Amino acid sequence: MAYFVNVRMVVAASCIVAGVTGGSIARAQPYPSKPVTLVVPYSAGGPTDVVARTLGAAMSKSLGQTVIVENRTGAGGTIAAAYTARAKPDGYTFLIHHNGMATAPALYRKLNYKPLEDFEYVSQVIDVPMTLVGRKDLPAKDFKELMAYAKANGDKVNFAHAGLGAVSHLCSVLLRQAMGVDMTTVPFPGTGPAMNAVLGGQVDLLCDQTTSTTPYVKAGSVRLYGVTTNTRLKSLPNTPTLAEQGLSSFQIVVWHGIYAPKGTPKDAVEKFGAALKGAFKDPVVAQRLADLGAIVPSDDKLTPASLRSWLEQETQRYSPVIKAAGQFAD
Ligand code: ASP
Repeated sequence: MAYFVNVRMVVAASCIVAGVTGGSIARAQPYPSKPVTLVVPYSAGGPTDVVARTLGAAMSKSLGQTVIVENRTGAGGTIAAAYTARAKPDGYTFLIHHNGMATAPALYRKLNYKPLEDFEYVSQVIDVPMTLVGRKDLPAKDFKELMAYAKANGDKVNFAHAGLGAVSHLCSVLLRQAMGVDMTTVPFPGTGPAMNAVLGGQVDLLCDQTTSTTPYVKAGSVRLYGVTTNTRLKSLPNTPTLAEQGLSSFQIVVWHGIYAPKGTPKDAVEKFGAALKGAFKDPVVAQRLADLGAIVPSDDKLTPASLRSWLEQETQRYSPVIKAAGQFAD
C-alpha cells in the first residue's frame, strides 16, 4: 500500500515539477520552436515560389526549423498580403512579395490592408529581370518578326499573366503599349501555370522573371524574344534587350521584400532576417540565384528600414502613373 502511495506521490510530484518546468521551458524556448510559414502570393512553380523555396530551404538549416512555403493565390497577390496582415503576429508567418506590394494601393480601390502600415518590414530580397517568351511553335523567330506577327494578328495573339497587380501583367500592359498592338490578355493564378500554358501551346506570350524562365530558355522549350533590362544579362549573354531591339528605355526589374504581420516580435523579425542574409552567403544558393539571373542586393539593403523606405518610394512612383492610366483592378 505504502508502495502505491509512494508511486502516486512520486507521479504527482513529478507532474507538478514537469508542469512547472515544462511551462518555463516553453516560455524560455528560443525562437523558432516550430515550423515557420512563408506565404507566397502566386502558384507553385512560378518565380516567386522558386525564390521562396530556394531561400526557405537554406534558411531552414540555420533556423533549425522548417520554413514551409504556402501558396495563397488570387487577386494579383492581394489575397496573400491581406492574409499575412491579419495573421497572428507571433513570428511564425511571413510573406514574400514583389513590386505588387507597391502597385496594389493604386490598382485596388477596396484594398483591405495598408502596405505601408500593417506590416513589420524584414528585408529586401533579390532583384530579378524579366524575359519575353513565347510558345515554341510561334512563327515569329525573333522580336522583329514578333512585332510584325503581332501587328498582323492583333487580338488573336494571347498574352498570359498572373492577375492584375502581378508584374507579368504590368509587363504585358507596357509591352502592348510600346508595341502598339492590343493583344488579348489571359490571367492565371501565377506564372507557374501561365508557363505551363505556354509550354502546352495554349497561349502565345508571357513576360516573366528569369528565376522561372531561364531553365525553359536553356532547354529550348520556349522562344525568347528579349530581356527587360537596359543591359544584357550575364546569365543569358546572347539575348538582346528589348530596348536594343527598338523599345527604347523599356525596363522592368522585379524587386522582392519579406514582411510579417504588424506586432511580430523584434527578435523573430531579426532572426528571420539574419537567416535570409545567411542564405545569400550559402555558395549553393548564391550560384543558383546567379544562374537564374537574380541579383542579391548589398547588405545595407537587407534591413527592415531599407525595405520600408524602398516600398514607400515605389508606392509614390507607381501611384500617379496607375491613377493617370485610370487602371483599376476592382
Ligand atoms: N511572376 C509572377 C508575376 O507576374 C508571379 C509568380 O507566379 O511568381 O507577378
